[in-house]
Amino acid sequence: MVPSFFDSVLELIIRTTTDLPPDVRAAMAATLASEPEGTRASQALTIIAQNIDLAAAAEGAICQDTGMPTFEVKVPVGANQIWMRQQIREAVAEATRRGKLRPNSVDSITGKNSGDNLGPGTPIIHFEQWEKDEIDVRLILKGGGCENTNAQYALPMELPHLGRADRSLEGVRKCILHAVWQAQGKGCSPGAVGVCIGGDRTSGYLRAKEQLFRTLDDVNPDERLAELEASIMATVNTLGVGPMGFGGRVSLIGCKIAALNRLPASFFVSVAYDCWAFRRLGVVLNASTGAIERWLYRDPSHPVIPMLDQAGFRRSGREIALQAPLGEADVRALEVGDLVLISGRMFTGRDAVHSYLMKQDPPVDLNGSVLYHCGPVAVKQEAGDWRINAAGPTTSIREEPYQGEVIRRYGVRAVVGKGGMGPKTLAALREHGAVYLNAIGGAAQFYARCIERVDGVSLLELGTPEAMWHLTVRDFPAIVTMDAHGNSLHTDVEEQSGRQLEALAAV
Ligand code: SF4
Repeated sequence: MVPSFFDSVLELIIRTTTDLPPDVRAAMAATLASEPEGTRASQALTIIAQNIDLAAAAEGAICQDTGMPTFEVKVPVGANQIWMRQQIREAVAEATRRGKLRPNSVDSITGKNSGDNLGPGTPIIHFEQWEKDEIDVRLILKGGGCENTNAQYALPMELPHLGRADRSLEGVRKCILHAVWQAQGKGCSPGAVGVCIGGDRTSGYLRAKEQLFRTLDDVNPDERLAELEASIMATVNTLGVGPMGFGGRVSLIGCKIAALNRLPASFFVSVAYDCWAFRRLGVVLNASTGAIERWLYRDPSHPVIPMLDQAGFRRSGREIALQAPLGEADVRALEVGDLVLISGRMFTGRDAVHSYLMKQDPPVDLNGSVLYHCGPVAVKQEAGDWRINAAGPTTSIREEPYQGEVIRRYGVRAVVGKGGMGPKTLAALREHGAVYLNAIGGAAQFYARCIERVDGVSLLELGTPEAMWHLTVRDFPAIVTMDAHGNSLHTDVEEQSGRQLEALAAV
């Protein structure tokens, strides 16, 4: 056995969920510097930067969605993989107990959360043997919002705004541009993409995700792919999707491409989209003891440089203070682009709560309420009360089939989430006097600090991420991106970036 293996893997998990690797930090710092001060993009990036600093300082999860833990392990010939797999699983369960990982493993048939991130298929662990006498463990934590924006194309095909994508590198280029455009802010842009050309549907996605283990600043050893990566990065940021899909200068911080052989009849292009909270680290372990010999992607002897050299999110004086519960007149006065600071009562509700509300009355009075699409990391304290460790917004579009009805039936006045919602919700906002507020995706530490207290919880049987938490918040910032007058920033940015996509088709 390898005595320190468990401790080393646990340390890897905790470091990965709390501290972004230096290459991602550098890319995000450059992104922040490139967006003009005072814009929505700059405000979002300032909150993101502050969140990165808070997470590292407090060893808290950068984003409340700690994702699907995916381990790539290389071991010497003869290593006991069965034992190592068990140790990795136990380390994942321990990190979950400590509130470093959110319980994210849900039975696909019953919807029951296992509570410890263990279950069929979770975590994902891939082993490979190699000739070296050391163990290499790499981990990526990729959340659901960005996972849902992955895309797979079967060429040739017609793409909106881009026309025909042929079985050529030019066709691949169109697919990648389309994937970034289609993601808009739903995957918490600016993101990075791992791409695989070829393979079958399964191996293509796997190899695409593996590309996310490359650093953002490396150069592809295949010159043809290096050229394609460079050409994507040279043009994609003219799309104007911007941080959180608010519009802006940076939509993508990295593009990494690989190729696999394919069947003559198939030509798949698989795109794995990762968000700005691009959590990926690794360790090299002594094969006998399991102790960490060195870190991959980071150098612990170099101090972490804070993302911000000043206080972080600063008020401009133009913010609108909202006190919940909200009245109809307050909400109808809001317009797309307004930055609001919410104080008072807020209820969380995501997929399971919306499904519940379609069948049964709410466990609390939602009249005038602020409903937050959020699945927090909640930890029960020894005294029996709850602490929220991480509480950023989840992707709202999943609630599109229900949201309008929930607003109508129960009098919800504000929905807070990320990535925007569709026409059914927009119609309900207009009809009933409500707004959609876009919080900054992934800013889980920042928003956890806006929570003054946890007043209660309903529907805890749905699991902690899906339960309805009753929170009192103070100065919780969010941007009005869909108002009660029928305006949607998301529709505007999608249309403008679609026109830009047409221009790029011709480049
Ligand atoms: S930053 Fe956004 S997309 Fe990424 S894991 Fe968090 S919520 Fe999901």
